[in-house]
Amino acid sequence: MSVVLSSQKAIELENKYGAHNYHPLPVVLSKGEGVYVWDVEGKRYYDFLSAYSAVNQGHCHPDIIGALQEQSKRLTLTSRAFYNDMLGKQEKFMSEKFGFDKILPMNSGAEAVETAIKLTRKWAYEKKGISEEQAQIIICENNFHGRTTTIISFSNDPDARKNFGPYTPGFIKIAYDDIAALEEALDNNKNVAGFLVEPIQGEAGVYVPSEGYLQKAKALCEKHGVLFIADEVQTGIARTGKLLAVDHENVKPDVLILGKALSGGVYPISAVLANDDIMEVIKPGQHGSTFGGNPLAAAVALAALKVIEDEKLADNAQKLGELFRSEMTKLVNKYDLLKSVRGKGLLNAILINDTPESETAWNICLKLRDNGLLAKPTHGNIIRFAPPLVMNKEQLMECVRIIDKTFDEFKA
Ligand code: PLP
Repeated sequence: MSVVLSSQKAIELENKYGAHNYHPLPVVLSKGEGVYVWDVEGKRYYDFLSAYSAVNQGHCHPDIIGALQEQSKRLTLTSRAFYNDMLGKQEKFMSEKFGFDKILPMNSGAEAVETAIKLTRKWAYEKKGISEEQAQIIICENNFHGRTTTIISFSNDPDARKNFGPYTPGFIKIAYDDIAALEEALDNNKNVAGFLVEPIQGEAGVYVPSEGYLQKAKALCEKHGVLFIADEVQTGIARTGKLLAVDHENVKPDVLILGKALSGGVYPISAVLANDDIMEVIKPGQHGSTFGGNPLAAAVALAALKVIEDEKLADNAQKLGELFRSEMTKLVNKYDLLKSVRGKGLLNAILINDTPESETAWNICLKLRDNGLLAKPTHGNIIRFAPPLVMNKEQLMECVRIIDKTFDEFKA
């Protein structure tokens, strides 16, 4: 039997023996169910982060855990040296659900982004006819696509970049939500292979682009024969009130990147989706991963996607998201410290009326924790609110009361 650690002891162990590459809120969790998590002392909290939108289906969803348990007794990993009897089922289900010919399964979000970059470059050389080593991918300022050396090469976050060079070339940075900038970059560069974009910039602070941006961007990409690559690792799988965030504008990406909630937070699963004319450029031996496409992941992904469908989680996110933003707008009018609220579905953020360098957002998150709700600042004075999508209206309203009470206490 494992020994139960006190919160203090668990934090001490992580601090002493773990690399300090995160700055967690001081709370030690040992149990989760649905919209709730519990700390080691037994205190219950609303999870208002959902592991950065990985736990859309709620903690330990019985259908997903059931699929994991059942499959784990049968077969977990074969590697892709052999076929397994689960991967094809996952690929067929996803292909039909998302409307792409083919799936390339990976594990983490960053790996899927790397896969999309490789796929786009190879397509550019072999199909578009760009000269070797010349392909460029347009990306946006304040993007977040993961932590690999290539991905951080086109980040503009100094923490993500500094002293991790030399950086990978081949990326053109433009302003986000700026169609003129995209047009100019496409007009001025003949070797553009793709445009990689988050339909909503999550890590940057839930920045929702102007209506029509994605549609116009897709049209420009089509005009220039450039792949539109949607990174829906955070926004996908019902989070924003539709299955995909691009669905709000009826945009069909050429390359779609999924991760996080593809497993409901049970197991690292990601995927890249594209049609045959793109996907066929990858041949045996040219890309892969030992764990990517394993039968355990396939069983989990199938169950996780079925939960989204069966429980109509996109509709719930849409409905509760509207309610949440209208309630937050009332608080914006009530508290000077609360500047604004923004978001789509249940991916939202509040902006705190203080400088980005201040500790205010962090201190508010500490008080929210004391009051039974867990959230985390992103980029200084922004707090992201992204609860599991299995939340109901009563629970959401209780969370609104917690946030209200916290701002009231903070004022005092
Ligand atoms: N892309 C986006 C839009 C993300 O938000 C994230 C993670 O937050 C990633 C990629 C990277 O995913 P992972 O942390 O699983 O590598």
